[in-house]
Amino acid sequence: MPSPILEVRDLCVDYVTNSGDVRAVDHVDLTVEAGEFLAIVGESGCGKSTLLFAIAQLLSPPAEISGGSVIFKGNDMVQLSPSELRHMRWRDYSVVMQSAMNALNPMKSIEAQFKDAMAAHGNMSAEAMRNRSAEVLKLVGVDAVHLRSYPHQLSGGMRQRAMIAMALLFTPDLVIMDEPTSALDVVAQRSLMIQIKELQDRLGFAVIFVTHDMSLVSHYSARLAVMYGGQIAEAARTASLFEKPLHPYSVGLLDAFPSIHGPRRVLTGIPGSPPDLARPPAGCRFQPRCPQAMPECAVRQPGLYSVGDSMVRCLLYEAAQPGRPE
Ligand code: SF4
Repeated sequence: MPSPILEVRDLCVDYVTNSGDVRAVDHVDLTVEAGEFLAIVGESGCGKSTLLFAIAQLLSPPAEISGGSVIFKGNDMVQLSPSELRHMRWRDYSVVMQSAMNALNPMKSIEAQFKDAMAAHGNMSAEAMRNRSAEVLKLVGVDAVHLRSYPHQLSGGMRQRAMIAMALLFTPDLVIMDEPTSALDVVAQRSLMIQIKELQDRLGFAVIFVTHDMSLVSHYSARLAVMYGGQIAEAARTASLFEKPLHPYSVGLLDAFPSIHGPRRVLTGIPGSPPDLARPPAGCRFQPRCPQAMPECAVRQPGLYSVGDSMVRCLLYEAAQPGRPE
């Protein structure tokens, strides 16, 4: 069995505020195998982007890692110095942000930005940099003529593709993506997802893909981690989660998005909103919104229980744990 390329262990991230620390990521464990596509899903405010930024070591104050480790290719990234991290970023792992318009420099051509990234990580000749820039842009389906374009001269879809091309300059082992398709229309979204998956299959990098839209990743991710209130609510193989979601929150999320397959059905949202992490509920964090809540859910916090190959944080599954009386 190959060892995972990334192991997140017991990771906690706090936002340090004058009125007290707010825990946005609460004791999260995750693993990613080489070449695997893992999606992290959940509503806004559930901690998924904070988790992703913590993995990429891109948090800035007031957010800080208050515990745990992020082991990537044998190094604990939490313990690395800024210069050690700079050395690994782009080369070993790269990050694709939600909005390329904000992530790309509006004052520089795409080629100049690619060149900056390559110059920071080696001593390639000007010609080698030009060739590599054209190569990665073609990989994402954009004509190399656009190397001379500035970000505002490209469509939203082309900008996101340029960001992905930049992330692939050194063919890293891991590409971390934060809702990279959220600003695109559904047609451009689908085409970009197909492209990402094709590139992943061809080049063999692992992907962590954060999205609030579960249906978007249903065909592309091997595993899903559903986050709620800063914690993993359910982690499972994508196919099994879509077929038989265990956590009531996963059920609610699935019912909130249209399915491409199967009969038409009425979409139902999840009433209420995610918890205020400054004052999380005493028991289960999903209890105020849960249609299956029991009296004990208001006072007892569920653990993360194994059910087959899946993990689920819900008291409904506690009784089935080995060693527990029926
Ligand atoms: Fe719902 Fe209770 Fe399970 Fe929480 S522990 S998800 S409130 S049934």
